[in-house]
Amino acid sequence: MTMLPKSTTTKLGLVIDLDTCVGCHACAVNCKEWNTGGHSAPLTDLDAYGKDPNGVWFNRVHVYETDNGEHSQTVHFPRSCLHCEKPDCVTVCPTGASYKREEDGIVLVDAEKCIGCKLCSWACAYGAREYDEMDGIMKKCTLCIDRIYNENLPEADRTPACVATCPANARHFGDLGDPESDVSKLVEQRGGFALMPETGYEPVNRYLPPRPRKVLPGDTGAPARLEGAEDAKSSSDFFSWLDKKLSR
Ligand code: SF4
Ligand code: SF4
Repeated sequence: MTMLPKSTTTKLGLVIDLDTCVGCHACAVNCKEWNTGGHSAPLTDLDAYGKDPNGVWFNRVHVYETDNGEHSQTVHFPRSCLHCEKPDCVTVCPTGASYKREEDGIVLVDAEKCIGCKLCSWACAYGAREYDEMDGIMKKCTLCIDRIYNENLPEADRTPACVATCPANARHFGDLGDPESDVSKLVEQRGGFALMPETGYEPVNRYLPPRPRKVLPGDTGAPARLEGAEDAKSSSDFFSWLDKKLSR
């Protein structure tokens, strides 16, 4: 069994805005790009160009439809380690390889101590652990410790790769243990929530809820038609209609 620190005053984590995330996967790709050469490198791929590609991704983006018909809403949901305060993924570790840092609350894996038993991935309720088949050890999001404390980088770049790259500004990084931090204020203003609090793991990361979809009279949930496009009888008609619109 591995012990957790009694408490961490600093709680570094992410705030992810489900209202503005457009599911472009830029965060996941930049995470892969940075971390395949970073602290837990490499993020191994298996059969990358084959029929059944598989590999290590610290950040995965899922897409859900919340309902049917006019009430349907598409939600893009990025998922990575939530750097929980009381995670069983650490306490079940038989070698001390999984640990939570007292100074900033980041949960890490020590590659030298990991024996690849996978107990931590069974214990993680959020599916955030990634087993590297080639290295035979467990890996996971490090909150980019090799960026956020990296004095060789300009100060503006000392943020996780996923946050730095998000074109929709849907990802935020900071100290969720400080009620005066920008991230804590954002959570307060927008009703940020913890994922599956019933686990008792006390995740640090927070999600900001999407706004409910506006349902207009006659709305069927199908994509809206382009205004005037119904008059176009063929594709050439459509393009001349579009030309007229654009040259206004
Ligand atoms: Fe990947 Fe870093 Fe974002 Fe974690 S914080 S998901 S490691 S980019
Ligand atoms: Fe552990 Fe999973 Fe929590 Fe990350 S999300 S700290 S891997 S239990």
